[in-house]
Amino acid sequence: MTKQGKLILVPTPIGNLEDITLRALTVLKEADLILAEDTRVSSKLLNHFSIEKKMFPHHKFNEHKTINTIISKLQQGNLLALISDAGTPGISDPGFLLVRACVENEIEVECLPGPSALIPALAVSGLPTERFVFEGFLPQKKGRQTRLSQLAQESRTMVFYESPFRLVKSLTQFAEFYGIERRACVCRELSKMFEEIKRGTLHELQKYYTENPPKGEIVIVVEGVSKKGK
Ligand code: SAM
Repeated sequence: MTKQGKLILVPTPIGNLEDITLRALTVLKEADLILAEDTRVSSKLLNHFSIEKKMFPHHKFNEHKTINTIISKLQQGNLLALISDAGTPGISDPGFLLVRACVENEIEVECLPGPSALIPALAVSGLPTERFVFEGFLPQKKGRQTRLSQLAQESRTMVFYESPFRLVKSLTQFAEFYGIERRACVCRELSKMFEEIKRGTLHELQKYYTENPPKGEIVIVVEGVSKKGK
């Protein structure tokens, strides 16, 4: 019987290397090949855990072209691990196209549980967690206003990824579209030395970050519209 190949998505730390899981280390050691978003970034992680393994770049600029090669490797029975620079592959990172191709080719796919910025931000926000919507990055130009207005009636807690350079712009637009009193939480540098969690109204947060320009990586969690429409 031929050996069955398998793709395993392996989440990696979003800031604190101690957040790697034991299973992630085992899979990275056992994989025949590691597909990495940026091999230079991932070689630091692998070196830290003394893992010597061949890597193959898999990023948004080559993922369309390399999918057939990767599928062949899986069909030949190889165990491939996919990692991104940080967090869970496929979540605002390359992964979806490859997973879809595996599903279409009846190749087994597994995703290990592990680090991602979205869940800690939601859980620490103090906003309702039982239902939420993950919006990832807002479009920077085209489609931004449309997306913001589509979300005006969203009653679930909303989670956005954001760059520090656009935080104030986003908070200002959220206040315009959803009202200055809407509650939100800005999570900066999660799991890192200078982690900062700021909760308040959109107006308060916009004022704070205008006066204290932020650095680092950011998740914004915004309360959904209340049933009364406020
Ligand atoms: N795949 C990743 C995940 O599972 O969270 C997300 C990758 S996306 C390219 C990077 C964005 O995730 C950052 O711009 C930021 O919005 C968020 N992010 C990643 N690490 C973070 C951290 N330590 N603290 C806050 N936000 C973070």
